[in-house]
Amino acid sequence: MRKTALNGSRTGWVGPYQISSYLANAVRDPSPRPPEAPGLYVLSERPWHDLPDDTCGLIYVGRAAYIRYRIGQLLCEMCGFTSDTIDDDAYGHRGGHAIWHRYCLPGKVEPLSLYIAWCSDCRCLDCAEAGLVQMLKVRLNVTPLYFCSRHRPALDLALNCGRGTLRRLLPAR
Ligand SMILES: [Zn+2]
Ligand SMILES: [Zn+2]
Repeated sequence: MRKTALNGSRTGWVGPYQISSYLANAVRDPSPRPPEAPGLYVLSERPWHDLPDDTCGLIYVGRAAYIRYRIGQLLCEMCGFTSDTIDDDAYGHRGGHAIWHRYCLPGKVEPLSLYIAWCSDCRCLDCAEAGLVQMLKVRLNVTPLYFCSRHRPALDLALNCGRGTLRRLLPAR
């Protein structure tokens, strides 16, 4: 799996970036782009440090085989490039569609004011996703709650997404 540059983070997470400034400097002062690799991505109201947490206003957790492609779809639909029908009639990203219709429009929230981050370095995507979904502040009912079938209890997010010394504590998958 390809590794991304890390923005000084001690974890495998890249970001969070406020979407407005991330896109405003895509060429001149570029931040890392999401990798063409499997991983998780999250959208939050506020920035956070090291790992997403309960206080960042987590809005959405997504998972994809190619997170660069999928985050692109998310950004389009959450910025209104989506259908007018409110009921799950997305073009290609149900989460983005729901964020636009059920979060941004009713709450008068500018999509570009939100923060995006991703991790393609998780030891267990199931555990990481399950843990993040439990932190969601907004329930858009597009991300099912579930648990990892391989790890009971679930891997701690810091260990799951850790780098450096943490990496050596656990066998590689
Ligand atoms: Zn991770
Ligand atoms: Zn797991």
